[in-house]
Amino acid sequence: MDLSIYRKDFPVLNDNSELAYLDNAAMALKPYPVIDAVDNYYKKYGVNVHRGVYKLSYEATDLYEQAREEIAKFINASFEEIVFTRGASQSLNLVASSYGLNFLNEGDEVITTELEHHSSHMPWFNVCNIKKAKLKYIPLNEEGRITVEAFKSVLTKNTKVVAITYVSNVMGYITPIKEIIKLAHEVGAIVTLDGAQAVPHMSVDVKELDCDFLSFSGHKLCGPTGIGVLYGKKALLDKMPPIEFGGDMADTVRKDMQTYKATPYKFETGTPIIAGAIGLAAACKYLKQIGLDNISKYEYELKTKAINELKKIKGIKIYNETAETGIISFNLEDVHPHDAASVFDNNNVCIRAGHHCAQLITTWLNTIGTVRASFYFYNTEEDIKKFIKGVKDAIEFFGKF
Ligand SMILES: *Cc1c(COP(=O)(O)O)cnc(C)c1O
Repeated sequence: MDLSIYRKDFPVLNDNSELAYLDNAAMALKPYPVIDAVDNYYKKYGVNVHRGVYKLSYEATDLYEQAREEIAKFINASFEEIVFTRGASQSLNLVASSYGLNFLNEGDEVITTELEHHSSHMPWFNVCNIKKAKLKYIPLNEEGRITVEAFKSVLTKNTKVVAITYVSNVMGYITPIKEIIKLAHEVGAIVTLDGAQAVPHMSVDVKELDCDFLSFSGHKLCGPTGIGVLYGKKALLDKMPPIEFGGDMADTVRKDMQTYKATPYKFETGTPIIAGAIGLAAACKYLKQIGLDNISKYEYELKTKAINELKKIKGIKIYNETAETGIISFNLEDVHPHDAASVFDNNNVCIRAGHHCAQLITTWLNTIGTVRASFYFYNTEEDIKKFIKGVKDAIEFFGKF
């Protein structure tokens, strides 16, 4: 299988033929169908939705709400279960602020992990402080993985929320989430899933997972920046209060009372992210046509090849050799990850270095940060060659032969 035939759809790759773009866990590049969809909205409409009483606004509203339908289908959700946000961070915060602040009580327990992105666990750290609830961490195994057994060891009848990542953005491990969700539901807890690294790279079905909430960002799945999604089960969204108020979410407003629109609109304040939603729907369509199963398989193949090459080089510490996805975290022995990254940049290899907004796991790994290479379907074996050359040059540069 060679998915790199899709490279031609990406203007950034066409314009920079030397570039090995391996920072896909931070952001994916944008293909023409997405750029064209955004462009089309601005060129042909460029008017607001939900408000106008004229044809152009009706049509723009249709386009915008069809986008919601397309995105719902992408994860097998219903239309009303898709709340548009600015990104995964805002989605995760919305759950903590609305559900957490309103339904947690003193003594309740929230379970999270050291594999979380800051946007997943920090909102719950805050909520637990305010509500005097207890934040517990699933002990990771020797590889840094979440296991079902370890989850059971912290799960109690007081557990009310499990805030957990589906795929770690540093380690690339897939959490055994189905079993965890089942066990959480058995004690009456809800599960809020950080899907930022999962939804772009593998087939995700919220009905099959039975998760209560799922958050993800558009920009990591070839969509525009500034758009994200919160999926929530309708019954939960219905009972949660809005956390932002004002235009578009209001129903009746009087001096003595105010009411709100139904789910999902009550969570969407102000003029919506219209172009973002339309662009994201185009991205979902595009990825579906390539096939999410093909994408995960291909990325894993690339990652495995890269790891095999990496292991031949002396002085490299790989942190996540067994990861099931396209993420490699490593360090050159005794070289600061940022210093290493600058050598890669000189080689036209884009990678990320640092703590990746996940300081709990870099601390767990006993390092200040890692160098991270992350693949997507448009990467090639040629990119791996450039990457490996970058590693060798860095080792030479820092005199680590
Ligand atoms: C990127 C990322 C986030 C945050 O996404 P934003 O688009 O920056 O809001 C959250 N969790 C994980 C696992 C991520 O990779």
